[in-house]
Amino acid sequence: MGLNQVSLEARHISLSYGSTEVLRDITLRIEPGEFFALLGPSGSGKSTLLRLIAGFNQHQRGELLIDGRDITGTPPHLRDVGMVFQNYALWPHMTVWDNVAFGLVERRESKDAITRKVGAALELVGLEQFARRRPNQLSGGQQQRVALARTVVIEPKLLLLDEPLSNLDKNLRVQMREELRNLQRTLGLTTIFVTHDQEEAMTTADRMAVLDKGVLQQVGPATELFDHPANRFVAGFVGTANLLDGSVDEVGSDAVTFQAKGIGALRVARSGAPPRTGPATMAFRPHTVDIRAGDAPLDAAHTWLHGRVESSEFLGELSRYRVRVGEVVVVANQPHHAGGALLRPGAEVRLGIEPTQVRFLVD
Ligand code: ADP
Repeated sequence: MGLNQVSLEARHISLSYGSTEVLRDITLRIEPGEFFALLGPSGSGKSTLLRLIAGFNQHQRGELLIDGRDITGTPPHLRDVGMVFQNYALWPHMTVWDNVAFGLVERRESKDAITRKVGAALELVGLEQFARRRPNQLSGGQQQRVALARTVVIEPKLLLLDEPLSNLDKNLRVQMREELRNLQRTLGLTTIFVTHDQEEAMTTADRMAVLDKGVLQQVGPATELFDHPANRFVAGFVGTANLLDGSVDEVGSDAVTFQAKGIGALRVARSGAPPRTGPATMAFRPHTVDIRAGDAPLDAAHTWLHGRVESSEFLGELSRYRVRVGEVVVVANQPHHAGGALLRPGAEVRLGIEPTQVRFLVD
Protein backbone atom coordinates (compact mmCIF):
# COMPACT_ATOMS: atom_id res chain seq x y z
CA MET A 1 0.00 0.00 0.00
CA GLY A 2 2.74 2.40 1.01
CA LEU A 3 4.14 2.41 -2.51
CA ASN A 4 0.92 3.79 -3.89
CA GLN A 5 0.73 6.85 -1.67
CA VAL A 6 1.03 10.15 -3.47
CA SER A 7 1.01 13.81 -2.51
CA LEU A 8 -1.13 16.46 -4.13
CA GLU A 9 -0.04 20.04 -4.44
CA ALA A 10 -1.85 23.11 -5.69
CA ARG A 11 0.28 26.18 -6.37
CA HIS A 12 -1.37 29.56 -6.83
CA ILE A 13 -4.39 28.11 -8.59
CA SER A 14 -7.06 30.46 -9.88
CA LEU A 15 -10.18 29.59 -11.81
CA SER A 16 -12.87 31.87 -13.21
CA TYR A 17 -16.16 31.29 -14.97
CA GLY A 18 -16.38 34.33 -17.24
CA SER A 19 -15.73 37.29 -14.98
CA THR A 20 -16.54 35.38 -11.78
CA GLU A 21 -13.46 34.21 -9.91
CA VAL A 22 -14.46 30.95 -8.21
CA LEU A 23 -11.02 29.91 -6.92
CA ARG A 24 -8.48 32.53 -6.00
CA ASP A 25 -4.77 31.82 -5.58
CA ILE A 26 -5.14 28.42 -3.90
CA THR A 27 -1.89 27.01 -2.52
CA LEU A 28 -2.19 23.74 -0.68
CA ARG A 29 -0.23 20.54 -0.07
CA ILE A 30 -1.86 17.24 0.81
CA GLU A 31 0.52 14.60 2.15
CA PRO A 32 0.77 10.97 0.97
CA GLY A 33 -1.87 8.81 2.66
CA GLU A 34 -3.67 11.73 4.19
CA PHE A 35 -7.45 11.90 4.63
CA PHE A 36 -8.10 15.52 3.80
CA ALA A 37 -11.35 17.51 3.91
CA LEU A 38 -12.32 20.54 1.87
CA LEU A 39 -14.78 22.34 4.10
CA GLY A 40 -16.84 25.42 3.34
CA PRO A 41 -20.35 26.75 2.90
CA SER A 42 -22.34 26.16 -0.26
CA GLY A 43 -20.86 28.06 -3.21
CA SER A 44 -17.41 28.47 -1.63
CA GLY A 45 -15.71 26.56 -4.47
CA LYS A 46 -15.14 23.12 -2.89
CA SER A 47 -16.60 21.06 -5.72
CA THR A 48 -14.89 23.22 -8.31
CA LEU A 49 -11.55 22.48 -6.66
CA LEU A 50 -12.30 18.75 -6.42
CA ARG A 51 -13.39 18.58 -10.08
CA LEU A 52 -10.24 20.45 -11.01
CA ILE A 53 -8.13 17.77 -9.32
CA ALA A 54 -10.12 15.12 -11.16
CA GLY A 55 -9.49 16.94 -14.44
CA PHE A 56 -13.08 17.95 -15.21
CA ASN A 57 -12.31 21.65 -14.69
CA GLN A 58 -9.33 23.62 -15.93
CA HIS A 59 -7.66 26.37 -13.95
CA GLN A 60 -6.43 29.47 -15.75
CA ARG A 61 -3.49 30.12 -13.48
CA GLY A 62 -1.22 28.05 -11.28
CA GLU A 63 0.00 24.49 -11.16
CA LEU A 64 -1.45 21.20 -9.97
CA LEU A 65 1.00 18.45 -9.07
CA ILE A 66 0.66 14.80 -8.13
CA ASP A 67 3.87 13.59 -6.50
CA GLY A 68 5.66 16.61 -7.87
CA ARG A 69 4.54 16.09 -11.49
CA ASP A 70 2.44 18.82 -13.08
CA ILE A 71 -0.83 17.25 -14.30
CA THR A 72 -2.41 20.46 -15.55
CA GLY A 73 -2.81 19.27 -19.14
CA THR A 74 -3.42 15.59 -18.32
CA PRO A 75 -6.95 14.36 -19.22
CA PRO A 76 -9.06 12.84 -16.40
CA HIS A 77 -8.65 9.18 -17.41
CA LEU A 78 -4.85 9.45 -17.35
CA ARG A 79 -4.62 11.03 -13.90
CA ASP A 80 -4.97 7.87 -11.79
CA VAL A 81 -7.67 9.64 -9.85
CA GLY A 82 -10.89 7.97 -8.69
CA MET A 83 -13.93 10.06 -7.89
CA VAL A 84 -17.11 9.14 -6.05
CA PHE A 85 -19.94 11.46 -7.01
CA GLN A 86 -22.48 12.84 -4.61
CA ASN A 87 -25.35 10.90 -6.26
CA TYR A 88 -23.08 7.79 -6.65
CA ALA A 89 -23.85 7.64 -10.43
CA LEU A 90 -24.41 3.87 -10.41
CA TRP A 91 -25.84 2.21 -13.51
CA PRO A 92 -29.37 1.17 -12.56
CA HIS A 93 -29.68 -1.58 -15.18
CA MET A 94 -26.48 -3.31 -14.09
CA THR A 95 -25.91 -5.60 -11.12
CA VAL A 96 -23.64 -4.57 -8.30
CA TRP A 97 -20.98 -6.89 -9.69
CA ASP A 98 -21.16 -5.37 -13.17
CA ASN A 99 -21.13 -1.85 -11.78
CA VAL A 100 -17.94 -2.59 -9.91
CA ALA A 101 -16.41 -4.50 -12.83
CA PHE A 102 -17.18 -1.78 -15.38
CA GLY A 103 -13.93 0.19 -15.11
CA LEU A 104 -11.86 -2.99 -15.34
CA VAL A 105 -13.76 -4.22 -18.41
CA GLU A 106 -13.19 -0.84 -20.01
CA ARG A 107 -9.50 -1.22 -19.34
CA ARG A 108 -9.60 -4.65 -20.98
CA GLU A 109 -8.31 -6.47 -17.96
CA SER A 110 -8.36 -10.27 -18.10
CA LYS A 111 -11.40 -12.21 -16.89
CA ASP A 112 -9.40 -13.70 -14.03
CA ALA A 113 -8.10 -10.33 -12.91
CA ILE A 114 -11.62 -8.89 -13.02
CA THR A 115 -13.06 -11.75 -10.96
CA ARG A 116 -10.33 -11.43 -8.40
CA LYS A 117 -10.40 -7.63 -8.13
CA VAL A 118 -14.18 -7.25 -8.06
CA GLY A 119 -14.40 -9.98 -5.43
CA ALA A 120 -11.81 -8.23 -3.30
CA ALA A 121 -13.45 -4.81 -3.67
CA LEU A 122 -16.88 -6.15 -2.70
CA GLU A 123 -15.36 -7.92 0.27
CA LEU A 124 -13.62 -4.73 1.30
CA VAL A 125 -16.96 -2.91 1.53
CA GLY A 126 -18.83 -5.94 2.91
CA LEU A 127 -21.15 -6.47 -0.06
CA GLU A 128 -20.12 -9.92 -1.36
CA GLN A 129 -23.61 -11.31 -0.82
CA PHE A 130 -25.24 -8.48 -2.79
CA ALA A 131 -23.27 -8.95 -6.00
CA ARG A 132 -26.32 -10.03 -8.04
CA ARG A 133 -28.59 -7.23 -6.91
CA ARG A 134 -29.32 -4.03 -8.76
CA PRO A 135 -28.71 -0.63 -7.15
CA ASN A 136 -32.43 0.01 -6.52
CA GLN A 137 -32.54 -3.14 -4.38
CA LEU A 138 -29.99 -1.66 -1.98
CA SER A 139 -30.17 0.87 0.85
CA GLY A 140 -28.53 4.28 0.49
CA GLY A 141 -25.55 3.19 2.56
CA GLN A 142 -25.09 0.05 0.48
CA GLN A 143 -25.32 2.03 -2.75
CA GLN A 144 -22.60 4.25 -1.47
CA ARG A 145 -20.40 1.27 -0.72
CA VAL A 146 -20.91 0.07 -4.29
CA ALA A 147 -19.83 3.49 -5.53
CA LEU A 148 -16.74 3.27 -3.34
CA ALA A 149 -15.94 -0.28 -4.46
CA ARG A 150 -16.35 0.72 -8.09
CA THR A 151 -13.89 3.56 -7.62
CA VAL A 152 -11.19 1.81 -5.59
CA VAL A 153 -11.25 -1.32 -7.79
CA ILE A 154 -9.34 0.53 -10.51
CA GLU A 155 -6.59 1.22 -7.96
CA PRO A 156 -6.41 5.01 -8.22
CA LYS A 157 -3.54 6.88 -6.62
CA LEU A 158 -5.88 9.54 -5.36
CA LEU A 159 -9.44 9.12 -4.10
CA LEU A 160 -11.86 12.03 -4.38
CA LEU A 161 -15.21 12.06 -2.61
CA ASP A 162 -17.82 14.73 -3.34
CA GLU A 163 -20.15 15.16 -0.33
CA PRO A 164 -20.01 11.37 0.18
CA LEU A 165 -22.48 11.26 3.06
CA SER A 166 -24.97 13.98 2.19
CA ASN A 167 -27.51 11.60 0.60
CA LEU A 168 -27.81 9.50 3.75
CA ASP A 169 -30.05 10.05 6.74
CA LYS A 170 -28.47 11.27 9.94
CA ASN A 171 -27.89 7.98 11.80
CA LEU A 172 -26.48 6.30 8.75
CA ARG A 173 -24.24 9.28 8.13
CA VAL A 174 -22.59 8.87 11.51
CA GLN A 175 -22.08 5.14 10.91
CA MET A 176 -20.81 5.63 7.38
CA ARG A 177 -18.28 8.28 8.30
CA GLU A 178 -16.64 5.75 10.57
CA GLU A 179 -16.72 3.13 7.82
CA LEU A 180 -15.27 5.60 5.37
CA ARG A 181 -12.51 6.45 7.79
CA ASN A 182 -11.70 2.74 8.34
CA LEU A 183 -11.75 2.03 4.62
CA GLN A 184 -9.37 4.91 3.99
CA ARG A 185 -7.01 3.62 6.68
CA THR A 186 -7.12 0.11 5.24
CA LEU A 187 -6.35 1.32 1.74
CA GLY A 188 -3.92 4.03 2.81
CA LEU A 189 -5.02 6.04 -0.22
CA THR A 190 -4.52 9.78 -0.27
CA THR A 191 -8.13 10.90 -0.04
CA ILE A 192 -9.76 14.27 -0.48
CA PHE A 193 -13.36 14.76 0.43
CA VAL A 194 -15.69 17.69 0.11
CA THR A 195 -18.21 18.58 2.79
CA HIS A 196 -20.17 21.57 4.06
CA ASP A 197 -20.62 19.79 7.41
CA GLN A 198 -17.95 20.80 9.93
CA GLU A 199 -18.73 17.88 12.23
CA GLU A 200 -18.18 15.46 9.36
CA ALA A 201 -14.86 17.06 8.52
CA MET A 202 -13.73 17.16 12.14
CA THR A 203 -14.57 13.53 12.86
CA THR A 204 -13.06 11.97 9.75
CA ALA A 205 -10.23 14.07 8.35
CA ASP A 206 -6.58 14.17 9.40
CA ARG A 207 -6.47 17.77 8.25
CA MET A 208 -8.86 20.12 6.57
CA ALA A 209 -8.89 23.26 4.49
CA VAL A 210 -11.59 25.86 5.06
CA LEU A 211 -12.74 27.74 1.97
CA ASP A 212 -14.85 30.86 1.75
CA LYS A 213 -15.70 32.62 -1.50
CA GLY A 214 -12.99 30.75 -3.36
CA VAL A 215 -10.27 31.78 -0.92
CA LEU A 216 -8.44 29.37 1.37
CA GLN A 217 -8.94 30.58 4.94
CA GLN A 218 -6.94 28.09 6.98
CA VAL A 219 -5.44 24.60 6.73
CA GLY A 220 -4.76 22.28 9.64
CA PRO A 221 -6.03 19.53 11.94
CA ALA A 222 -9.49 20.04 13.47
CA THR A 223 -8.18 20.88 16.94
CA GLU A 224 -5.89 23.57 15.58
CA LEU A 225 -8.66 25.23 13.56
CA PHE A 226 -11.02 25.02 16.50
CA ASP A 227 -8.57 26.30 19.11
CA HIS A 228 -6.68 28.78 16.96
CA PRO A 229 -8.93 30.01 14.17
CA ALA A 230 -7.08 32.31 11.78
CA ASN A 231 -9.98 34.69 11.38
CA ARG A 232 -13.58 35.44 12.18
CA PHE A 233 -14.93 33.26 9.40
CA VAL A 234 -13.11 30.13 10.58
CA ALA A 235 -14.03 30.82 14.22
CA GLY A 236 -17.70 30.90 13.27
CA PHE A 237 -17.66 28.05 10.76
CA VAL A 238 -15.63 25.44 12.64
CA GLY A 239 -17.73 25.05 15.77
CA THR A 240 -19.79 27.93 17.10
CA ALA A 241 -18.42 31.11 18.62
CA ASN A 242 -19.43 34.35 20.22
CA LEU A 243 -17.91 37.05 18.05
CA LEU A 244 -17.84 40.50 19.61
CA ASP A 245 -17.04 43.43 17.32
CA GLY A 246 -14.79 46.13 18.67
CA SER A 247 -11.18 47.10 19.08
CA VAL A 248 -8.19 46.25 21.20
CA ASP A 249 -7.47 49.58 22.86
CA GLU A 250 -4.64 48.75 25.16
CA VAL A 251 -2.27 45.85 25.74
CA GLY A 252 -0.84 46.02 29.23
CA SER A 253 1.61 43.68 30.93
CA ASP A 254 -1.15 41.67 32.61
CA ALA A 255 -4.35 42.57 30.75
CA VAL A 256 -5.86 43.60 27.43
CA THR A 257 -8.55 46.24 27.22
CA PHE A 258 -11.13 45.47 24.56
CA GLN A 259 -13.71 48.06 23.64
CA ALA A 260 -16.71 45.87 22.74
CA LYS A 261 -19.29 47.49 20.48
CA GLY A 262 -22.63 47.64 22.28
CA ILE A 263 -21.14 46.55 25.60
CA GLY A 264 -18.23 48.82 26.58
CA ALA A 265 -14.69 48.32 27.85
CA LEU A 266 -13.72 44.78 28.90
CA ARG A 267 -10.60 43.86 30.77
CA VAL A 268 -9.23 40.45 29.75
CA ALA A 269 -6.28 38.95 31.59
CA ARG A 270 -3.32 38.40 29.23
CA SER A 271 -2.77 34.88 27.99
CA GLY A 272 -0.55 33.80 25.12
CA ALA A 273 0.82 36.15 22.47
CA PRO A 274 -0.28 39.76 22.89
CA PRO A 275 -2.83 40.98 20.33
CA ARG A 276 -2.22 44.08 18.24
CA THR A 277 -4.15 47.22 19.06
CA GLY A 278 -6.84 48.25 16.60
CA PRO A 279 -10.12 46.88 15.22
CA ALA A 280 -10.65 43.24 16.17
CA THR A 281 -13.18 40.56 16.99
CA MET A 282 -13.16 39.04 20.43
CA ALA A 283 -14.04 35.36 19.99
CA PHE A 284 -14.92 32.76 22.62
CA ARG A 285 -16.90 29.52 22.57
CA PRO A 286 -20.31 29.19 24.25
CA HIS A 287 -19.24 26.12 26.23
CA THR A 288 -16.36 28.02 27.88
CA VAL A 289 -18.67 30.67 29.33
CA ASP A 290 -19.52 30.26 32.97
CA ILE A 291 -23.11 31.37 33.64
CA ARG A 292 -24.19 32.25 37.18
CA ALA A 293 -27.34 33.67 38.73
CA GLY A 294 -26.99 37.45 39.31
CA ASP A 295 -25.80 37.59 42.88
CA ALA A 296 -23.25 34.78 42.78
CA PRO A 297 -19.74 35.57 44.06
CA LEU A 298 -17.25 36.47 41.34
CA ASP A 299 -13.55 35.74 40.96
CA ALA A 300 -11.02 38.10 39.47
CA ALA A 301 -9.55 35.59 37.00
CA HIS A 302 -12.52 35.76 34.62
CA THR A 303 -13.91 38.66 32.64
CA TRP A 304 -17.46 39.10 33.87
CA LEU A 305 -20.35 40.36 31.79
CA HIS A 306 -23.65 41.36 33.26
CA GLY A 307 -26.78 40.38 31.35
CA ARG A 308 -30.32 39.10 31.25
CA VAL A 309 -31.44 35.71 29.93
CA GLU A 310 -33.44 36.20 26.74
CA SER A 311 -34.17 32.58 25.96
CA SER A 312 -33.01 29.11 26.81
CA GLU A 313 -32.96 25.76 25.06
CA PHE A 314 -32.69 22.51 26.95
CA LEU A 315 -30.66 20.09 24.82
CA GLY A 316 -30.27 17.24 27.34
CA GLU A 317 -26.57 17.21 28.03
CA LEU A 318 -26.51 20.99 28.06
CA SER A 319 -28.69 24.06 28.29
CA ARG A 320 -28.06 26.83 25.79
CA TYR A 321 -28.74 30.37 26.94
CA ARG A 322 -29.02 33.48 24.84
CA VAL A 323 -28.12 36.34 27.15
CA ARG A 324 -28.56 40.02 26.34
CA VAL A 325 -25.50 42.00 27.37
CA GLY A 326 -25.83 45.67 26.49
CA GLU A 327 -26.82 45.71 22.84
CA VAL A 328 -25.47 42.29 21.94
CA VAL A 329 -26.48 38.69 22.59
CA VAL A 330 -23.96 36.25 24.05
CA VAL A 331 -24.53 32.50 23.87
CA ALA A 332 -23.54 30.39 26.89
CA ASN A 333 -23.83 26.62 27.10
CA GLN A 334 -24.07 25.05 30.50
CA PRO A 335 -23.60 21.31 31.06
CA HIS A 336 -26.71 19.76 32.56
CA HIS A 337 -26.78 17.38 35.52
CA ALA A 338 -29.96 15.73 36.80
CA GLY A 339 -31.73 18.05 39.20
CA GLY A 340 -30.15 21.21 37.76
CA ALA A 341 -32.78 23.93 37.29
CA LEU A 342 -33.03 25.98 34.11
CA LEU A 343 -32.54 29.74 34.43
CA ARG A 344 -35.69 31.53 33.29
CA PRO A 345 -36.00 34.23 30.64
CA GLY A 346 -35.60 37.59 32.36
CA ALA A 347 -33.21 36.20 34.98
CA GLU A 348 -30.22 38.41 35.74
CA VAL A 349 -26.95 36.61 35.24
CA ARG A 350 -23.20 37.03 35.21
CA LEU A 351 -21.23 35.51 32.37
CA GLY A 352 -17.66 34.52 33.19
CA ILE A 353 -15.30 34.51 30.24
CA GLU A 354 -12.17 32.45 30.70
CA PRO A 355 -9.21 34.56 29.41
CA THR A 356 -7.26 31.54 28.09
CA GLN A 357 -10.23 30.76 25.84
CA VAL A 358 -10.44 34.22 24.28
CA ARG A 359 -9.04 34.92 20.82
CA PHE A 360 -8.62 38.38 19.33
CA LEU A 361 -9.06 38.09 15.58
CA VAL A 362 -8.19 40.82 13.15
CA ASP A 363 -10.34 39.84 10.14
P1 ADP B 1 -19.40 24.42 -3.44
O1 ADP B 1 -18.98 23.07 -3.91
O2 ADP B 1 -18.52 24.95 -2.36
O3 ADP B 1 -20.85 24.49 -3.06
P2 ADP B 1 -19.00 25.17 -6.18
O4 ADP B 1 -17.58 24.82 -6.44
O5 ADP B 1 -20.04 24.21 -6.68
O6 ADP B 1 -19.21 25.46 -4.64
O7 ADP B 1 -19.32 26.59 -6.81
C1 ADP B 1 -18.55 27.75 -6.53
C2 ADP B 1 -19.10 28.90 -7.32
O8 ADP B 1 -18.91 28.70 -8.71
C3 ADP B 1 -20.60 29.13 -7.14
O9 ADP B 1 -20.82 30.50 -7.03
C4 ADP B 1 -21.19 28.57 -8.40
O10 ADP B 1 -22.38 29.24 -8.71
C5 ADP B 1 -20.10 28.83 -9.43
N1 ADP B 1 -20.09 27.83 -10.51
C6 ADP B 1 -19.89 26.50 -10.36
N2 ADP B 1 -19.89 25.88 -11.54
C7 ADP B 1 -20.10 26.83 -12.48
C8 ADP B 1 -20.19 26.83 -13.93
N3 ADP B 1 -20.06 25.70 -14.63
N4 ADP B 1 -20.40 28.02 -14.53
C9 ADP B 1 -20.50 29.16 -13.82
N5 ADP B 1 -20.41 29.23 -12.48
C10 ADP B 1 -20.21 28.09 -11.82
